[in-house]
Amino acid sequence: IIQLKGVTKIFKKTTIINSMNLEVNEGEFLVLLGPSGCGKSTTLRMMAGLEKASGGEILINGKSADKNNDFENSFAMVFQDYALYPNMTVYQNLEYALKVHKVPKNERENRLNKILDTLNLLDYKDRLPGELSGGQKQRVALGRGMAKKSNIFLLDEPLSNIDVQLREKARDEIQSMHDERHQTIVYVTHDQLEAMSLGDRIAIMNDGIIQMIDAPDNIYNNPVNLFVAEFVGVPQ
Ligand code: ATP
Ligand code: MG
Repeated sequence: IIQLKGVTKIFKKTTIINSMNLEVNEGEFLVLLGPSGCGKSTTLRMMAGLEKASGGEILINGKSADKNNDFENSFAMVFQDYALYPNMTVYQNLEYALKVHKVPKNERENRLNKILDTLNLLDYKDRLPGELSGGQKQRVALGRGMAKKSNIFLLDEPLSNIDVQLREKARDEIQSMHDERHQTIVYVTHDQLEAMSLGDRIAIMNDGIIQMIDAPDNIYNNPVNLFVAEFVGVPQ
């Protein structure tokens, strides 16, 4: 459903993504795991058509990502910097895409109140993003992505600022939502445990290159190189 063929991204003469090949299958939960600066967000943004590849080809359902100017209808996305609508309340941020898609008011209310409750946001639903802490904003960004029942759901480190207890709850919620809706998910993280528990497959990235892509068990038991072994914490 998502195909990257020899994709390269160059920023200011520096190669950030180096001839990457990747296929994400329909209904798959794929985790992109790698250290800070390895190119995870750039890869995700190119999939979403928000960043143009310098070379190679990205296909979404067989169509070039470049030519897709309908981001709203194709993707739900949780951005690393949240990207909330600053002049809308928490509730309106979550509701916006559902209104665009003409989801009836009572279904919107049911769906959103459930998500707000799960993410402990009910008390904040009438606040503006500017009146929230970083962790609260991140939960709003996650909630907004969850509210939208898109075929493809892209998440960029959606739990990085959320404290441990709620993080586990939110992680379980993402997992059960995926099981229920069969969404195709690409989930970016630098957290090994999160990757291991969520991914059908994990792509381990370093310096703009996928080092290994496989099921969590295989990565843990048969790492292809030292970087992979160390990164997933295989005892040496
Ligand atoms: P993190 O885990 O810290 O979020 P990441 O894996 O998501 O890191 P990217 O944000 O994809 O990394 O960035 C990859 C590299 O590309 C970094 O070295 C970054 O400095 C560089 N980069 C990203 N965006 C730009 C830009 N607009 N202009 C120039 N360089 C950029
Ligand atoms: Mg990033």
